[in-house]
Formats: sequence, structure tokens, C-alpha cells
Amino acid sequence: MNDAKRQEGRPLGFDTRQIHAGVAPDPVTGSILTPIYQTTTYVQESVDQYLAKGYSYSRSGNPTVRALEVKLADLEGGADCTCYGTGMAALQAVYLAFLNAGDHAIVSDVVYGGTYRLSTKVFSRFGVQFSFVDTSQPDAVRRALRPNTRLVLTETPANPTLKLTDIAAVSAIAREAGILHAVDNTFLTPYYQRPLELGADLVVHSTTKYFDGHNATVGGAVVARTAELDRALRFIQNATGMIMAPHGAWLTLQGCKTLSVRLERQSANALAIARFLEAHPQVATVCYPGLESFPQRELAMRQASGFGAMLWFEVRGGVAAGKALMDRIRVWSLAENLGSVESLITHPVTMTHADVEEAERRRVGISDGLVRLSVGMEDATDLIGALDAALAGLGA
Ligand SMILES: *Cc1c(COP(=O)(O)O)cnc(C)c1O
Repeated sequence: MNDAKRQEGRPLGFDTRQIHAGVAPDPVTGSILTPIYQTTTYVQESVDQYLAKGYSYSRSGNPTVRALEVKLADLEGGADCTCYGTGMAALQAVYLAFLNAGDHAIVSDVVYGGTYRLSTKVFSRFGVQFSFVDTSQPDAVRRALRPNTRLVLTETPANPTLKLTDIAAVSAIAREAGILHAVDNTFLTPYYQRPLELGADLVVHSTTKYFDGHNATVGGAVVARTAELDRALRFIQNATGMIMAPHGAWLTLQGCKTLSVRLERQSANALAIARFLEAHPQVATVCYPGLESFPQRELAMRQASGFGAMLWFEVRGGVAAGKALMDRIRVWSLAENLGSVESLITHPVTMTHADVEEAERRRVGISDGLVRLSVGMEDATDLIGALDAALAGLGA
């Protein structure tokens, strides 16, 4: 792909790269898809020719996984990428590579529940200190800096409240302090938001979500701005054995090819649904970055080229009414996960964010009545019709 990356000096567009980057016809058969290299080891030509073909053992590298790494590095505009068995393993690799006992990290106060758990329940046991900071206020990040701060990890839009962090502003603060800024870009993907172009050092993904897009895998990735940062991650990956398996990488490679088309359709559905909910008398609050009422709309438009397909709302009648709606709705599936072609409805307090303490949830605005929607690719009229019927049932 690297030779195909430019055509007559003109850089190839995103749609072309999401299909072709990292993938070349198989040299043996011409297979247009990168094969699933289901192998443990790689036979070497001779002792002196060790690693001549680039591979030794599948913990240290696998050609199917490599194709995905090259593709994701290309799409995010990074020097390189490492892939992992889950998004949580990707975040763990960032912590292991760049934090030592006694170091301090600043993390967005609204993050995926698993990120909060990994920080407070696992890495804190090894002497790493964490501050959960409202990173939507760059000054709060500056104030939270300590002499031992090594990393700022932000998630924007944040799961589940959709609070945004100004990536360029926080990257500038991190650079000035000589520390790293990692951005969890799971919700918007490089199609809509490219943190490295805004100054970040690392981009983390749960590829489970939009890259796969079909509810078929769990996986994660870290794209690094420099080869040196990537080498630190790759060392941790080989040392700890946190890898992505080839079959999952192969499925994710297929998902990537339609990323932009899926996101556009899913985002258009999300906007239509947000507008419907905003006008519905049974709905108390709706939050979607594409609505005029979204509090950080200017930032949403400045740092991303789309609003994404995640939204949340609260119904009148509080928690009981919200649960009743989730239990009775058709078409939508009550399930964890997001980003897939199937539309999913989630109660974060019971499901994705159950391990965040109640006081902390309240503090950051994850209310008991919050209903999270991951909008899929079904007909918008069917998705809206199902919400309409479920809301009508509440009034009855
Ligand atoms: C799902 C998710 C993760 C964790 O990814 P897994 O693949 O489930 O381990 C991390 N960050 C965000 C924003 C997520 O939505």
C-alpha cells in the first residue's frame, strides 16, 4: 500500500485508504484478501537469515494482524500501530509502556467504565496515582499537573455523557509539560476525528466498536505519533503477551472497508432520532453533538468533521420509566457494545458503568435515568417508530 498511497503525487482519500491500506494481493495465490495466517511459528531460512521474512513467533507478530496495524496507522496518520485482544488491553499497554510506580496520570472524569476500573482497581495497586479531571476545562488539566505527572488520557466524546475535550488545547498543555497525551478516539474514529493531527501523541481504540462494526469481535489498537512511542508499546506487547488473534484481525479488516459509509448513515440516523426525541413530550433531556442545544457544539464542529452516532436521553418519570422503556422497546437490542450496524440501547448505570461508584457517577453527570443509544444502520423510520411506541407505552 505504501507505494499505492499516492497516485500521481496526490494523496489518496479516506474511502480508498480504508479499503486498500495495509492490504496487498497475497504473493503466493493472488488472494485479494489478506489470508488468516493461523500459525504459531515461522520457519527460518537459516540461522544467519533469522527474521529475513519479518516473522518469528505469533506473539511477536502475525501477518494478518500486521495488515490491520498498517491500515489503522494510515487512517489515523500515525507512525505505526499495535493491536490487542480488547480495547482494555490497548489502554493497559499505554499504562504499562508509559507509567511507572510513583508516577501520576490525569484521566478524563467521564470515561468508559472499564478505564476507570483499570485505573482505580488495578494500576493504583502498583503505585500509580490517578486524578480524574474535567478535561473539558483545559485549565483544570493544567492545575492537576504534578511534578510526577507522565500522561494525560482523555476520551472525547466521553462515554456515556458525550462531554468533549479540546484535543489541541490539552495536547499543547501536555507538550509544554513534557508529558504524553493519549486520546481514546473510539466514539468518532479517524473518519471524523484525528487526534494526532491536533497534537496528541497516542490514539487508543476499542476496535470492537466502529472498526469492526458488526458485533463480531472484541479488539483494541494504539496508534503512535512516532516510531519510538510505537517501539515502547511493541516491547510491552511482546513482553506481556497482549496480542490480537489473526481471526479477529481478519474480521476487523473487513469491517474497516465500510467504516465511512456506516458512520455517515449511522450519524444521519442519530440526528433524525435526536430531533424526534427533542420534540417528544415524554422526553426530559436529549444530548447529541449535532443538536443546536448541545453545550459544546462549537468545539464539536471545530475538532471533528461529524457528530457520530451515539446519543443519550432521559424520559419523564425518572429511572423506572427509563427502565420500562428499555425493557419493552422493539427493533433496538438491550445490550452493551456500541458502533455496530445493529442499534443498541444501554442503561450505563447497570451495564457499562456499573463499577463507577455512585457518588462519582453523580459528580460527572451519569444519572440513573440516562438511556444511551448506539444508533445502527436500520431504517430511521423503524428506529423512530420503535422509540415512539415504547414512549407511548410509558404514558399509558
Ligand atoms: C468499549 C470501550 C473501551 C473498551 O474496549 P473493549 O474492546 O470493550 O475492551 C474503551 N474505551 C471506550 C470509549 C469504549 O467505548
